[in-house]
Amino acid sequence: VFQKILVAYDGSETAKIALDKAISLKQVFTQATLEVVHVFQIANLVISDTIVTGPAPVQAELYQASEAIVEQARQRISHLPFSTATLLDGGAPAPVILDYADEHQFDLVVIGSRGMGALKELVLGSVSHEIVQRANIPVLVVK
Ligand code: ATP
Ligand code: MG
Ligand code: MG
Repeated sequence: VFQKILVAYDGSETAKIALDKAISLKQVFTQATLEVVHVFQIANLVISDTIVTGPAPVQAELYQASEAIVEQARQRISHLPFSTATLLDGGAPAPVILDYADEHQFDLVVIGSRGMGALKELVLGSVSHEIVQRANIPVLVVK
């Protein structure tokens, strides 16, 4: 029985399929809470071995894109009780998601195998790879 289901969502087609699977689970485990999280990533540039934060207008535009992704998720779950969508601030997605899952005692993480990245020949993206490798709760990887 799952009681707290966490969905990692980046707005990609695979993440949409993952969210749909989580919604199906939620319809079986009716008492479960469902939370969709999207991690906003600060855009950094590497200039001769130094990490430089990208210009503010770029960050602002990316932040708005992240807000739109969360809003899209929120609409997809709006018909479900005990369901929320949250924008998590800054950092590499996998550690932020794993820390959040620990802190709030989730018992299942649902992720897509791939995301917005382009290397389609890989089975797992870097975020799903790290979550599968490091999570200490069950992970559902949706293809
Ligand atoms: P890469 O990012 O390594 O180039 P990719 O984008 O194809 O590859 P991942 O980023 O690992 O693959 O995406 C796999 C899954 O991880 C997504 O379907 C989504 O569930 C989750 N995910 C990825 N990025 C985020 C994010 N910023 N916030 C929340 N979940 C994310
Ligand atoms: Mg990605
Ligand atoms: Mg990436």
